[in-house]
Amino acid sequence: MDSRTHEITIELTCPACKGGGTFPTWDCIDGNADPALRQRVLTDQTLFFYECPHCHSQVHIESPCLYIDKKNKWMVWHIPDPKATVTAADVCAFLGADSFADYTCRAALTWGEWREKIIEMESGVDDRLYEIIKYGAYRLIKEEDKKLLPLDAYHVDYADEKRTVTELALVFLRKDKKGSGYTYPITPKIIEVTTDIFMPVLQRLPDMNGKGKFNRFGYAWAANLMEYILKAAAGGEQNSNAYNQLIGFWVQQLGKEIFHAAIEPEK
Ligand SMILES: [Zn+2]
Repeated sequence: MDSRTHEITIELTCPACKGGGTFPTWDCIDGNADPALRQRVLTDQTLFFYECPHCHSQVHIESPCLYIDKKNKWMVWHIPDPKATVTAADVCAFLGADSFADYTCRAALTWGEWREKIIEMESGVDDRLYEIIKYGAYRLIKEEDKKLLPLDAYHVDYADEKRTVTELALVFLRKDKKGSGYTYPITPKIIEVTTDIFMPVLQRLPDMNGKGKFNRFGYAWAANLMEYILKAAAGGEQNSNAYNQLIGFWVQQLGKEIFHAAIEPEK
């Protein structure tokens, strides 16, 4: 298969000792054509670390990189600049003449978010449903536990070491103990319930389903979406009461399926 993977070399100055150096990396990774590199993206935490040859400082390199899955027609662009916007036309210019208009496109700000999004996309479930579940589950955590399990270390990952692409979990990492945390599998049932409740909303919203547009669907997006839905439900629409009940049902299901806990519906 014709691989789109493309290597680059970045010239850099060490922030600690100001010594110069070079860092070989990629600005495009073709997951289907390079399975070994895909594996490294998903498992090797040192992949984007530079070690200074002068003072041996470890430097985390954030540079743009497009991950592409041609077989399943999606891509995730790591774009460290939050103000940068990109389109399918930019991809065409970047990759050559092929058309990518029918690809599902996502953007990520950090390498962690990028890897998480690749894992979500590979599962075959709409990644936005994971983000909604992720948001809802974090809301169910007690305030005192949130201090120990910070949002920036909370993510979707494989449920276990087997790394089955269809078995994902919510992972909460502890702030006080590096590498330790809690894993809660995302069950088929909660995916089904979340699909039933939220997919009709997502399908109705403009700018939410466009192909060839790089959207950043993460925790903040899910928070905004939920605020929008609750406002609309409170706004006295005819079926608002029914929708409130539906959201209450979803929260109960989240508690049951993710945390195996009974959640009392909010008044
Ligand atoms: Zn250095």
